Amino acid sequence: MACDPKTPRKNCMRITCPGCGNDSDFIEVADNVILTTRYVQNEDGSFSQDGDESQILGEIKFYCAECNADLTSAHNRFLEMLF
Ligand SMILES: [Zn+2]
Repeated sequence: MACDPKTPRKNCMRITCPGCGNDSDFIEVADNVILTTRYVQNEDGSFSQDGDESQILGEIKFYCAECNADLTSAHNRFLEMLF
């Protein structure tokens, strides 16, 4: 994982908004999402969810939740750190 040499080592793994310094609240926005959810009807007429086949056709953007700065360049790192 590449680190910016100007970034202090201890902050190497954390995404920090360069605009406001926020490092805790982020928003992921996906364009053109087709939400497809499969359901199975049970014997009693109720339904159970049986899989989520949603597709994202558009871009995924990643924003700071504090100042709405576009942090999409950090989105790959976000995905690597998502558990
Ligand atoms: Zn910010």
